[in-house]
Amino acid sequence: MTTRFDVAVIGAGVFGAWTAWHLGRRGKRVLLVDAYGPANARASSAGESRIIRMGYGADELYTRWSQKSLVQWKEFFAATRQNLFHETGVLWLAGKEDTRLREAADTLRRYGVPFEEFTRAELDKRYPQIELDGIRRGLLEPKSGVLMARRAVAAVVDEAVRGGVEYRVAQIAEPRGAGELNAVIASSGVADRGGGVCLCLRCVVGKGLS
Ligand SMILES: Cc1cc2nc3c(=O)[nH]c(=O)nc-3n(C[C@H](O)[C@H](O)[C@H](O)COP(=O)(O)OP(=O)(O)OC[C@H]3O[C@@H](n4cnc5c(N)ncnc54)[C@H](O)[C@@H]3O)c2cc1C
Repeated sequence: MTTRFDVAVIGAGVFGAWTAWHLGRRGKRVLLVDAYGPANARASSAGESRIIRMGYGADELYTRWSQKSLVQWKEFFAATRQNLFHETGVLWLAGKEDTRLREAADTLRRYGVPFEEFTRAELDKRYPQIELDGIRRGLLEPKSGVLMARRAVAAVVDEAVRGGVEYRVAQIAEPRGAGELNAVIASSGVADRGGGVCLCLRCVVGKGLS
């Protein structure tokens, strides 16, 4: 049986999972492929938890992305009735060299991210349980926290599939050449784009890869 797709997403880590989810939502026919499974133990997205925070020093692009990302995670968890984000707050600590902390504070202020700043004396009072050797200043993002990484990525893939995305386990060979891809090669076998997508287990190709 030949099935045609608009896009093939290779890799079901956090980026691939959300890419497939969004494309599916936009009405694209999407094939999502991973060699070992969503947020598998070899992937960067593996593991129980990841910090989601807004402070990236002066790198405000990441602050903006993180703001958007947390909104989407929260909407996603509310819609799917699971609580995989924990608003623990994220505390930054700086010693003598506190440039990054100051830059982060500037960026957070500019983008309306709530935060509190602490002197060493204030930190001592507020966090007596932490050994603050060498620490001079602190910054708390009270609305940031911890994402349960592996389960969250798996949930996005599940929802993407529920929304019509096709998910397959296969290892895709590194593409050769430049420009538009005519084919991707799976564990074994080759297929070209003319035929759409071959869905036998060991041979997957996306038509119109982007
Ligand atoms: C130890 C550690 C701690 C981190 N802590 C944080 C943190 O606290 N906060 C934060 O925001 N970020 C953190 N990061 C970064 C964050 O985890 C990564 O940026 C993110 O997980 C990257 O996701 P990804 O989808 O790009 O890659 P991955 O999760 O690695 O996904 C890539 C997927 O592609 C698949 N794949 C690769 N090649 C092929 C192929 N040829 N065919 C088929 N499938 C293939 C893999 O199996 C894998 O599942 C951390 C990273 C690490 C490693």
